[in-house]
Amino acid sequence: MRWSTIFAVTVLGLGACIGAAVADKRARTQDEPKPVRQQAAIDQQRVLPLEPVRAPADLGERAMAHARALCEFGPRYAGVPGWSKQLDYIEATLAALGIDVRRDTWTDRKELLTFSNLTATLPGKRKERVVLACHHDTKCTTGHDDPAHNFHFVGANDGASGVALLLALAPVLKATEREATIELVFFDGEESLDWRWNEAARALFGSKRLAKRHRDALLLGKEPRIEALILLDMVGRKELHIQEELYSTELLRRITWSAAVATGHRQQFFRRAEAAADDHKPFLEVGIPAIDLIDLNGNPDWHTAADTLDKMSPQSLQAVADVVLTMLPAVEKAYVTERK
Ligand SMILES: [Zn+2]
Repeated sequence: MRWSTIFAVTVLGLGACIGAAVADKRARTQDEPKPVRQQAAIDQQRVLPLEPVRAPADLGERAMAHARALCEFGPRYAGVPGWSKQLDYIEATLAALGIDVRRDTWTDRKELLTFSNLTATLPGKRKERVVLACHHDTKCTTGHDDPAHNFHFVGANDGASGVALLLALAPVLKATEREATIELVFFDGEESLDWRWNEAARALFGSKRLAKRHRDALLLGKEPRIEALILLDMVGRKELHIQEELYSTELLRRITWSAAVATGHRQQFFRRAEAAADDHKPFLEVGIPAIDLIDLNGNPDWHTAADTLDKMSPQSLQAVADVVLTMLPAVEKAYVTERK
């Protein structure tokens, strides 16, 4: 073979490789997670006419009782005793209500940590799923280089409040016939293992896993779609303020605001608008509508030893329950029964 022939073959070969790479990249980017950008705040003058749904009068107190039980387990991040006690508590509480719960346990190969997500299913008239989610892990506050980051942390609001509210909502949801199948999902590993968030490089373990597995299952036609996800994170503070979280899907933000107006809880919602990366983001990245009901901005106790039960209020939990129960029929209508 002469040099010119070798050169031509090499160039042709390279061209083919580049071509294949481009085609491959195109194919991959079509179903790869897409970056989610923050959006503009909604126009609060435009309110959807929603029928208010009230939670039972003692729901806030019931949620507080669950939060108390969870905090008594102490820290609840992967590997500590409180973590397994909490998983057992969630399972036992739901099982006692006759609700089917599944535990998905896996070991992250890079971190060498074992995590568990829990999913409880409340079958509706249809198989399409609407997810109500929270994270059950608490921030790890030991072993950090900066001694200021090492302290006893029970995560009453950041962790327990979302779990407690889902557990208190479970019997109410079970007693109501619904259009969609409602799933209660308790994510593990939401908190960053690094003290800082670091673009969720070492965070959102449970939600990343479920979003990816769901996307793969959909490609294989293996399970009904998650049509929408409502995430509850830090929903029990006395001075509750659920910010308008700007990665969240616009229609879900409008439904949330309209539900807050309909139930008379507008003072505790959307006075500020700001993006917050959380467990809803992996779902948004794969095209699933999602909203984060989060009280992060301006919360002085966040990730401090002061995030304790005495800062919580049953009234705040009650208000979020009213808003979620009022949202649900509108979410089912928009994303399940009248999905365009
Ligand atoms: Zn946190």
